[in-house]
Amino acid sequence: MIQNLLQTPIEYLKGVGPNRAEVLKKELNIKSYRDLINFFPNRYIDKTGFYKINQLQRNSSDVQIVGKIVHMKMVEQKRGKRLVADFVDDTGKMELIWFQGHKWIRENLKLNTPYVIFGKTNWYNGTFSMPHPEMELVADYKKNLRTAMQPVYPSTEMLLKKGITNRVIMKLMQEVLQQTGLKFSESISPGLIEELKLLSKAEALFNIHFPKNQELLAKAQFRLKFEELFFIQLQLIRRNMLHKQKIKGFSFDQIGEYFNDFYQNHLPFDLTNAQKRVIKEIRSDMGSGAQMNRLLQGDVGSGKTIVALMSMLIALDNEFQACLMAPTEILSIQHYNGLKELCKNLDISIYLLTGSTKTSKRREIHEKLENGEINILIGTHALLEDKVKFKNLGLAVIDEQHRFGVAQRAKLWKKNHIPPHVLVMTATPIPRTLAMSLYGDLDISVIDELPPGRKPVKTVHRYDSNRLKVFAFIRDEIKKGRQVYVVYPLIQESEKMDYKDLMDGYESIAREFPDEQISIVHGQMKPADKDYEMDRFVRAETQIMVATTVIEVGVNVPNASVMIIESAERFGLSQLHQLRGRVGRGAEQSFCILMTGHKLSNDSKTRLETMTSTNDGFEIAEVDLKLRGPGDLMGTQQSGVLNLKIADIVKDNSILHSARFYASKILKEDPNLSEDKNLVIKNAYSRLVKNNTIWNYIS
Ligand code: ADP
Ligand code: MG
Repeated sequence: MIQNLLQTPIEYLKGVGPNRAEVLKKELNIKSYRDLINFFPNRYIDKTGFYKINQLQRNSSDVQIVGKIVHMKMVEQKRGKRLVADFVDDTGKMELIWFQGHKWIRENLKLNTPYVIFGKTNWYNGTFSMPHPEMELVADYKKNLRTAMQPVYPSTEMLLKKGITNRVIMKLMQEVLQQTGLKFSESISPGLIEELKLLSKAEALFNIHFPKNQELLAKAQFRLKFEELFFIQLQLIRRNMLHKQKIKGFSFDQIGEYFNDFYQNHLPFDLTNAQKRVIKEIRSDMGSGAQMNRLLQGDVGSGKTIVALMSMLIALDNEFQACLMAPTEILSIQHYNGLKELCKNLDISIYLLTGSTKTSKRREIHEKLENGEINILIGTHALLEDKVKFKNLGLAVIDEQHRFGVAQRAKLWKKNHIPPHVLVMTATPIPRTLAMSLYGDLDISVIDELPPGRKPVKTVHRYDSNRLKVFAFIRDEIKKGRQVYVVYPLIQESEKMDYKDLMDGYESIAREFPDEQISIVHGQMKPADKDYEMDRFVRAETQIMVATTVIEVGVNVPNASVMIIESAERFGLSQLHQLRGRVGRGAEQSFCILMTGHKLSNDSKTRLETMTSTNDGFEIAEVDLKLRGPGDLMGTQQSGVLNLKIADIVKDNSILHSARFYASKILKEDPNLSEDKNLVIKNAYSRLVKNNTIWNYIS
């Protein structure tokens, strides 16, 4: 049976043995025949044709030539010895050069015997030369399983040191493929193979290692990428479906007085189409009888708050309570004030609970929550405490999800006998591709439209040497009545250097703007002091706010129209984008100025260029993903997640979409894959699960 053969430990493969097996295990995690076959080349060398020496061009390209060595000699140089061989064919002569490994070469290479050589050619002093050519006797070359394109496998120093070169891996691969006779079990159903014109599994695996030509290579790659993403999506979507069957949720059947009254009489603006669509999605989820677990993505300023409020009103209409949890005190207070204002004409009781809520107030809140007098509770992590008990919590909204962990989501689930619906809102747009792979088990809604009339923030990059001009610009804006943020990096809240920068900055601004009122906010201040300063800025009593990234999330001061970011090269892209989102909230043209020194790394340059060229959070997130890689983007906890063998989450976006489309279509028609036509997929799926080769996703 092929499955048994594939399980065979790698040391039993001809040419491996215990020593090499050890190295393969350690360096490449190759333990079995299956692992070896699934070890894919990362590039290919095209050896489709042979060159004659008199056809060589001075373009340093990699070429393949047949000829013989007629003479070898050592050449002494100041910088060391080199071994030079005269290599001829029937059209001319060239040189092969080695700087190392002379002894082995002299002992092993045969004179006057036909070789195929391959490598990069150089042109010097009227002669072509090839340093360290790959060489193979023509006799062997003809014997080997031969394809036009040569695979190049990922390698490590240790592999090379132990003599496991690319050539060795190729030999092993030939051996293992020959042993299997390419009798691989198909994993994709005939219907889908037909529809997508995919190569068969066997053809794909053969051509990924030994492609017969460029076209077949492309097809093999497509097939294997599709397959990889397809089974991941199949698993995620299936999990989502099971979740919906298993986890009962409250059914919010009615849209009642609260929602309708608010919608008809108190909505301060027209909803954007995206907002309407998302509210519909949420509403239908909460009425379905299953627990909602939905991620709401929307760029900064896209208007997620009103969506949260209207979802909460639906909960209230069905006689449930709702809560809204935010990552910081400032943000909770802002939500509290904002929602109070929006609901001032509705008969709703809204309370705020944070770490600094006084004990007496706290007691009152606990009581009123339990007897149902409170409709909506807003707050920080404080909401999660065991003492906080609701009479009937129906919906929990979490703002800025990236600051909360999975464990905290789970705590909210326990706040009622049936888990409340959960709406997670994030303003750090996760690229759709990534979201689909990571949160395939959450449903996703996207607000992809900003409210009308927003002027995009103008973003520029300025060097520190231009600071005086920047100050002049600030002065002009303040004269027009605007307010200004100046933000300093504070990556580690404890770093002394960063505080020094901040305080120095504050002092120089105070000196530069002696007539203006200046606020300062940072993470080491007492919450009450922070709020006080923040408040003064919100009420426009201060014109300049000097701050660390504590103002990153959520703060809404529409009159603030300038954002200066100091040492901008030290911020990540998504952080820069978040900070920029603090301006551009009012009717005036807003500006974001990224200040840096002259010395910048390439990555920093890319980040700055991205910021100055686009305002689109999703585009920025894609660049961020490319720069940092998905693991880093999502935090270490999830880094193993996208350990893909062949597909690339960024580059293979369209394949991912197609894989998800088909996975979802198939499961919709046949949730348990029990129909005949899906048998092949079902078997492959169980094999993958059994062998634990579908990646272990966090839940
Ligand atoms: P975010 O998605 O970043 O949380 P907010 O909900 O804070 O965005 O909304 C940003 C601003 O846009 C708020 O001042 C809000 O009142 C306003 N806003 C939201 N939706 C609309 C809309 N449809 N039309 C006009 N203004 C809107
Ligand atoms: Mg918000």
